[in-house]
Amino acid sequence: MTILSVLHQVFADKACFLCGEQSDYPVCPGCASSFRTCEPGWSDRRLTAGPASGFSAYWYEGTMRQAILQMKVQGEYQLAGQLADMLANLARSLLLGDRPIFVPVPRFGVRQQGDPRHFPQVACGTLSASCNGDSGIGLLLKTRRTPLQTKLSDTRRLKNVDGAFELSPGAPGKLHDRTVIIVDDVLTTGATICAATGVILQARPHQCLYLTLARSRATIASGL
Ligand SMILES: [Zn+2]
Repeated sequence: MTILSVLHQVFADKACFLCGEQSDYPVCPGCASSFRTCEPGWSDRRLTAGPASGFSAYWYEGTMRQAILQMKVQGEYQLAGQLADMLANLARSLLLGDRPIFVPVPRFGVRQQGDPRHFPQVACGTLSASCNGDSGIGLLLKTRRTPLQTKLSDTRRLKNVDGAFELSPGAPGKLHDRTVIIVDDVLTTGATICAATGVILQARPHQCLYLTLARSRATIASGL
């Protein structure tokens, strides 16, 4: 290893993932301040997939979109902690009810807890600690239903995969009568949130809301 490559590595560890400028954080303060926040407070919204109540912190555009793509597509999961902190900072201003329980939208087929590469899990850990709530990691599972897939149209197929959620065996008792907050990275059509909400409601919670780091402008039904 040459001196130059060592220097590069040291510099790369301290460079902003978005602009490359020197930074002690994965996203430098300059880039972080360019994230555009959505409207404050909870909102009831008609999403393409159906009605849902919740809160999204930032618009999924510009530097925020870049950050999320770096995290999800390029696998730069170091970003997850900082972005989770930013989401938690904005979520603290919300009325969250009496000791909410934060449930991450799970990864397909993954049941283990504490995955630092999965933003919803990281965020649920941060949110439950900083918003006086409980972590509901592992209560909602995503499962494959392959036998039916081949017989479905493209649209139905997509929906089927998106909707492949179920409660873990211990979940109903833990979610019943609670304020449940489903946590995800990006809200687009709302198909995932609506599918997850439908499953959570089986546990008869007090209420079920969503909380996402970002929200797309284009895919939300307009005028409502
Ligand atoms: Zn930067």
